[in-house]
Amino acid sequence: MVIKTGWLKYLWNKRGGKILYQSIRMAKFHKTPFKIILENIFEVMDEYRAGFTFPIVASVALKNTKLMSMISKSRHEVASHGFKHVNYKYISKREQELDILKSIWAFKSIKITVRGFRAPYNAYTDYTPKLLEKYNFLWDIGIGYASKYRGLKKFFRIRINGKESKFLCIPLSQWSDDAMIDRYCLKNFQMVKILKKAMEKTAEKHGVVMFDLHPIRIGQPEYIDVLREILAYGEHLDGWFPTVTEAVNYWLNHKKWKGDASFCCLLTGDIDNFTFADYLLRLF
Ligand SMILES: [Zn+2]
Repeated sequence: MVIKTGWLKYLWNKRGGKILYQSIRMAKFHKTPFKIILENIFEVMDEYRAGFTFPIVASVALKNTKLMSMISKSRHEVASHGFKHVNYKYISKREQELDILKSIWAFKSIKITVRGFRAPYNAYTDYTPKLLEKYNFLWDIGIGYASKYRGLKKFFRIRINGKESKFLCIPLSQWSDDAMIDRYCLKNFQMVKILKKAMEKTAEKHGVVMFDLHPIRIGQPEYIDVLREILAYGEHLDGWFPTVTEAVNYWLNHKKWKGDASFCCLLTGDIDNFTFADYLLRLF
């Protein structure tokens, strides 16, 4: 278990204090069963006929097949968020490749085909994109978190060995739920204001904007209205809210948004753990 040793050593040495606070937060959030979290999200998304994309840690998916079947039966999409939630910057090339491959096999074993990827912690090495190319991913939604890409409002490709990547990348807004809730302690109305502003700016450019709203937070009864309000405002601005694969395929074929929408908004949210036990297992 080389992955665990190297990565865990880093986790405890560098992030020990943070882990304690995060554990307390996660224990509180996980008091709401994940089934309820998903139902809350599905209900709001259905009201607006919108698609959500869930990058999911594959090892966690394998342990929670009932929740996975709830997602796969829905209109929403599953993507790979690695096999274990490890930072690829602290493991070897071979370990990275194994982690990605195992995630693909794991999803296949529960009859889910994944077309896209987001690395845990949005952490990539120069080698990660080569693996995404090798395993035929259609899109990546974590590379776009790098500060040089965040502000873009369109899909882009990166250079790999002097050539354009076959997969598409998507800029990722810095305004994730964990930044807004855990780091800046914002209230719901402040979050809504920030997300609305980002949508307005994107609509002006007929572009694409993507948010990372982790289900463990946004699906809570106290935060679900944030999702509802941004969908209502997005509809008012004539925006389109598809899953990532739907958006990418449509764009590749038509070079515009479906129904001549004024912009495309991609609602994504990583599932790192379905239960507090999943969270604790990641630490030990
Ligand atoms: Zn994650």
